Amino acid sequence: MSCTLILAAHPDDEVLGCGGTIRRIVLGGEKVHVAILGEGITARYGQRFAADAELLRQLQRCTEEVAGLLGVSLSMHGLPDNRFDTVPLLDIIKIIEDLVERYKPHTVYTQHGGDLNIDHVMLYRAALTATRPMAGAPVQRLLAYEVASSTEWAFAQFTPVFRPNVFVDISETIETKIRAMQSYTGEARLFPHPRSPESLRAIAGRWGSVCGFEAAEAFELVREAVAAPKGAASWNRSTPPASETVRVRPAKAEDAPVIFGWRNDPYIVARCTFQRTVAWDEHTAWFAKSLSQPDRNLVFVIEIDGCAAGLFRIDRSGDVATVSTYLLERFTGRGLGVTAIRLGCLAAREQWPDLQQIIAWVREENAAGRSAFTKAGFSLGAKRRDGPSGHVAFLLNHTSW
Ligand SMILES: [Zn+2]
Repeated sequence: MSCTLILAAHPDDEVLGCGGTIRRIVLGGEKVHVAILGEGITARYGQRFAADAELLRQLQRCTEEVAGLLGVSLSMHGLPDNRFDTVPLLDIIKIIEDLVERYKPHTVYTQHGGDLNIDHVMLYRAALTATRPMAGAPVQRLLAYEVASSTEWAFAQFTPVFRPNVFVDISETIETKIRAMQSYTGEARLFPHPRSPESLRAIAGRWGSVCGFEAAEAFELVREAVAAPKGAASWNRSTPPASETVRVRPAKAEDAPVIFGWRNDPYIVARCTFQRTVAWDEHTAWFAKSLSQPDRNLVFVIEIDGCAAGLFRIDRSGDVATVSTYLLERFTGRGLGVTAIRLGCLAAREQWPDLQQIIAWVREENAAGRSAFTKAGFSLGAKRRDGPSGHVAFLLNHTSW
């Protein structure tokens, strides 16, 4: 599956440079991986080892929370903050080469080589090398992003100077970018600092005005090498869309940030029983508990063509289990939810062969949900008072499995 890779020297660079663009790509159904190469805090201390371990852990939690908000997968590589120039360039290149090998991104976003910050400069050098366009290499496009409080603070004194020539409309996603930046409590600043919400809006408005958008992020295209599509001879032949493969797999601890993002997605919130958002700490406590008692709770991630697309959760009490499930909006309307419900129920039956009945509480006005459970073999139950208000019960008995 196609993927975009974001390289950042420090936690928050990915948001400042391309937070709105990342969210746009994710909402479009594509996978994004963010790799933070440095630890992002120790330079404020005289000695690297003097950095407060608790502060570092807190920054890591913020980084995971932001990854959840954006809906990306995340890796952190722990290079020394503001001391990338003490690390052999080859070591930084190796980290990026491994990421390219693993994720096979068609597009890579990296920091800009003319920035004030030395880590940004080293990362840019390493990214150019690690993504060089050899035969068969996956990376087709390399772009450099600007970082408020580093790119403009070089005052064009270093080469290359940042010369943006690609502008991405982030009118619909700028609020997520601002919210993500505010989540970095130790890095966000008050106006008129460049990392304040007001300044970030002003920068987005300025780049938007260059190209007719309300808000934009600006990039410099470093290199683009467009390969011919596979089977180029059939270029003009219309190919039928490939059928989408649905599977469910047990959720893992590292799914926490992505599922956190789903639980706060307005589309999902509107369809859930309690219709409210959750905070990070509440989410992680709930998630850890859900994964720790497989005799009572099973949590599955629904994957469509290898892309995490939704959740299937089932909670057992005695002979009866209650299911709650959702798909992200962009995967709905194609009958994929029906398959996911069937697969989820089968997986639950495998774990709990003695289960007698599965209940799904569906909002009365949720026509798509009612239809999906019916097609998956559930039948509408009689009116009952023991469920959440405004919901109807759909039932699947063991005899119909
Ligand atoms: Zn930085």
